[in-house]
Amino acid sequence: MIKLTKKVDDKIKWLVNKAPGEISGLGAGRIIDGHFVVFEVYVPKQKCSAASTVIEDQEINKANYRHFKDGHGPSCLFHWHSHASMRVFWSETDRTMLAEWMAGENAYFFAMVTNKAGERLGCYLQNAPVPLWLEKVEVNVLEEGLSEDEVKALEVLYDENVKTFGEDIYNKITSFSEEYNLPWDYTMDMFDKVETLEAKGASSGYIAKVVGKELKRVEKNVKSQAQGDNSEGYSGKWKK
Ligand SMILES: [Zn+2]
Repeated sequence: MIKLTKKVDDKIKWLVNKAPGEISGLGAGRIIDGHFVVFEVYVPKQKCSAASTVIEDQEINKANYRHFKDGHGPSCLFHWHSHASMRVFWSETDRTMLAEWMAGENAYFFAMVTNKAGERLGCYLQNAPVPLWLEKVEVNVLEEGLSEDEVKALEVLYDENVKTFGEDIYNKITSFSEEYNLPWDYTMDMFDKVETLEAKGASSGYIAKVVGKELKRVEKNVKSQAQGDNSEGYSGKWKK
């Protein structure tokens, strides 16, 4: 069984309720008295939308380093994400994500999907000595809640690391990126650019126009590169 400390449960609930769409994170835990007890939550920098949440590898590495520095071992053995207002289940995207984790160095790990209604579904994945995937693991909560300071710290963490984009712009960028197999850095640059425009108070119409223009520019460059023309291509990052 997976057991969340009350603080971990409160933190995840707070974050899940704060996020307009999906949100995800990692956690520190270990086996105590026959249960996997999760006692810390990490919220890496991430890009989210109503139905997606993605954390860059380097941000996962940062969380793992933090986990290591906190004295909890080499890497996080717990992943959690929210389905916002949707029911809890392991979607195809979740399965792909978990399979990638399975291919990593961890011998085993636990994951949880939750939602705004407070439903929780746990799973257990084992890489070695035999591959194993248990899709329904019970999740329970231990005693003792969050202090006011801990809630404030969560607010800061959320504002710093979690950015939710409109579904339209999110899908536009990610599907384009997939179609042309763009480098991850470039995709992130596009998100950063949208974020900067939003911070400057640009309208969503204007942002959509800027993104559309940039995507067209990249498309043109990718196509001309394919024809043997060695112009700048997508390596040029955002046009200043
Ligand atoms: Zn999911």
